Amino acid sequence: MDAPPILPPYRIKVVEPIPFLTAEDRRRALAEAGYNPFNLRADQITVDLLSDSGTGATSAAQEAAAAVGDESYAGARSWFRFCHELRELTEYPHILPVHQGRAGERILFTSLLKPGQICVSNTHFDTTHANVKLVGAEAVDLPCPEAADLDSHAPFKGNIDLDALEKLLTGPDGHRVGLVLMTITNNGLGAQPVSMANLTAVRDLCRRHEKPFFLDAARFAENAWLVGQREPEYRDWTPREIATRAFQLADGCVVSLKKDGLSAIGGFLGLRDDGLHAACEANLIATEGFSTYGGLAGHDLERLAQGLREVLDPAYLRARAASTARLAQMINDAGVDTVQPAGIHALYLNAGRLLPHLSPGEFPGHALGCQLYLDGGIRCAELGSLYLGGMNDEHRLVTPAPFELVRLAIPRRVYTDTHFEYVAAVLADIAKNPERVRGYRVVSSPPLLRHFKVRLAPADEKDVE
Ligand SMILES: *Cc1c(COP(=O)(O)O)cnc(C)c1O
Repeated sequence: MDAPPILPPYRIKVVEPIPFLTAEDRRRALAEAGYNPFNLRADQITVDLLSDSGTGATSAAQEAAAAVGDESYAGARSWFRFCHELRELTEYPHILPVHQGRAGERILFTSLLKPGQICVSNTHFDTTHANVKLVGAEAVDLPCPEAADLDSHAPFKGNIDLDALEKLLTGPDGHRVGLVLMTITNNGLGAQPVSMANLTAVRDLCRRHEKPFFLDAARFAENAWLVGQREPEYRDWTPREIATRAFQLADGCVVSLKKDGLSAIGGFLGLRDDGLHAACEANLIATEGFSTYGGLAGHDLERLAQGLREVLDPAYLRARAASTARLAQMINDAGVDTVQPAGIHALYLNAGRLLPHLSPGEFPGHALGCQLYLDGGIRCAELGSLYLGGMNDEHRLVTPAPFELVRLAIPRRVYTDTHFEYVAAVLADIAKNPERVRGYRVVSSPPLLRHFKVRLAPADEKDVE
């Protein structure tokens, strides 16, 4: 007998219907959305793979905890539960709650970074990059060289380039480095994990050069799972032990709990330094809320405290990783390449390779994303020249991104393998006749975080808008 399939350690108790639109309705909806999936209404989408952020299903235990949430203004019971859970996990003395990750970024960076300083990372997440810029600092990405080979099966393509980091720290700009921030897993670069060896080496470099070292740890549990699978020294460690060790290596963390918090909202800052904590706390109280709720309701704190336990269950992580890997296999079998090896929270389709008839300026990643919606009501996000490329004042692409990718994000505990078979089938159909996928051009675009609000039109429809 073949090995039995890996089962998720839960069954479904509460469901919600998903919409099915006609092809004509989808065509109209996408045109009205300015061909930007962020502008679609959720009730126009059949399978929503836009983001794994805040989109997970909660458990019965989380909802039971939420029902007894304490909404006291200060010192709520729910706060102590949340704080206790995070102190045990991270071993940081100071925990500050925030309503989501980017609020934590803003508070940390305004307290820690000065204008003209450099924040260096394996890869900054988009809002992280924006928040570094908003305080007048510079965001520098130093991904490891293996990351540039999308097909390489190297196990830790999320790592930072240690040689480049050391060169920066010892070079003429070394004094400008105000923060080293490691994103685990590396969301901007194919959901690839960061090894404990890499984190340890970063810690050592930061100690030697007296630089603060922080984690952007939105997917701390998924990174821990992949470390346990791929880094031999950690084979016998539990995901919780690995996660705690990673937090211990750093001076603090900024975390969106909308991912591995298994909840719709939430985040926190973990800090060691008393002075930095005092500065961040003052900012928190002025802008987010008192330091025992930070913009969150008591019921949110309860869901999060429970979610933080469930997310580290090895049976849950094993099943989630297996489900994503199975989707990757189906997509690869259909002739569509994905960034290798498959991560956990998302798959990245190589649209540039699938659609060679489209130039980077026609946004092949965006075109493939639009086609997935037009053909199957599937929503996903481009990670290519539309998101990362340089554009001139007429919104024409002048500097293409290194790759034209599409991210299929996998919400936690939401879709079944049948939904993923459907996604793979829609993609397989596109892969049979890729030349029919049209390119796009930008019609209007905001200066910062362009991808959220950009409007486009099919490149061959010159006179609309
Ligand atoms: C989601 C995310 C953030 C921002 O968090 P929000 O909760 O969306 O504000 C920051 N960094 C990484 C790596 C993320 O994935």
